[in-house]
Amino acid sequence: MIPYGKQNITEEDIQAVAKALKGDFLTQGPTILEFEKAFSEYIGCKYSVAVSNGTAALHLSALALDVKEGDKVITTPITFAASANCVRYCGGEVVFSDIDPDTYLLDVKAVEELLKASPKGTYKGIIPVDFAGRAVNLEAFRRLADEYGLWIIEDACHAPGGYFVDSQNQKQNCGNGNFADLAIFSFHPVKHIATGEGGMITTNDEKLYKKLLELRTHGITRDTASFKNTVEFAVGQEVNAAATYPGWYMEMQTLGYNYRFTDFQAALGISQLSRADKGIARRKEIAAKYNDSFSGKNFIKGQSGFVEGHAYHLYVIEVEDRMGLYNYLREHKIFAQIHYIPCHLMPYYKALGWNENDMPKAEAYYKHCISLPMYPTLTDQEQQFVIDKVNSYFQ
Ligand SMILES: *Cc1c(COP(=O)(O)O)cnc(C)c1O
Repeated sequence: MIPYGKQNITEEDIQAVAKALKGDFLTQGPTILEFEKAFSEYIGCKYSVAVSNGTAALHLSALALDVKEGDKVITTPITFAASANCVRYCGGEVVFSDIDPDTYLLDVKAVEELLKASPKGTYKGIIPVDFAGRAVNLEAFRRLADEYGLWIIEDACHAPGGYFVDSQNQKQNCGNGNFADLAIFSFHPVKHIATGEGGMITTNDEKLYKKLLELRTHGITRDTASFKNTVEFAVGQEVNAAATYPGWYMEMQTLGYNYRFTDFQAALGISQLSRADKGIARRKEIAAKYNDSFSGKNFIKGQSGFVEGHAYHLYVIEVEDRMGLYNYLREHKIFAQIHYIPCHLMPYYKALGWNENDMPKAEAYYKHCISLPMYPTLTDQEQQFVIDKVNSYFQ
């Protein structure tokens, strides 16, 4: 059986988790901070906040940016529903905008048209997605965001290790916080770095970082300088002028959640992260081989191709008879997958007013797309088998 994606757990991973389990902490302990630091270094950002999953990362990001009832936020329909849902968790309104059919990413020109069509202040933020592992050009989105006073959350779940090249010819890593206010990652087993469940928020903004730490743990703070109640109240009896807050004292100042990560998952994350570059290198090899094998084939309407900085979470091809190919591959135990059913056509979003033909490019893409097996432990032989089966279906 060949799935479309698969985690890779090594003996070192198992040892790392076992060691963490023998330590003093099960949930929030020192390994989390270690993982956060290693992740910041890998991505090239200042701060990382580990949370229980990618969806929690999106929810906390929306909260930290103060998304409120009725706030309009723009995102792509070709993504996992969580990219949009985080806005709904906060009572905001999701405004989908169509994709660029060449890159499959949120089309910056379409977003600009949308912004131009309404008075400034209508929209609050944009959530671009590094879909399939291809980095969004965030420099272009930042320019728009600055002009219209918007924040940006980069959904980089598909793209740790991906990058785009900016106008100064600099590599800009996905999630590095140079253009987006916040970026989020997932450590679900099909993603590049797997910890079972898990997520990360990255940023260069210290204020947002501190807010996220609080929101991750119930909105509780232990920072004496920010306490709102008096020392006398905290102590519970009359105090002299020099009295300080007692050791047990803490304050819940905002409504937060329990979105904590665990120490043993962080141990797994650190171990996985140490192989991340190797994983990307292998994914690129696989992508190059797919690209070469399918270039010029008349049954291919489009494909992910070989693109600099692409992290290749997915390798997508577009074909005319997608249904036939999907079933044929399954008959041969190749479990290709479809990414994604356009989010705006999920019954939940249809009930909010979205309809067919609203996003013609995304909908056309959905009719033909199929994600072929792509993961570092896919062998050359297995990949050749996949390529042969795709070719033989169309012959
Ligand atoms: C996986 C994924 C998420 C959600 O991550 P979870 O860890 O599964 O909650 C969000 N956005 C995208 C694009 C994803 O692929």
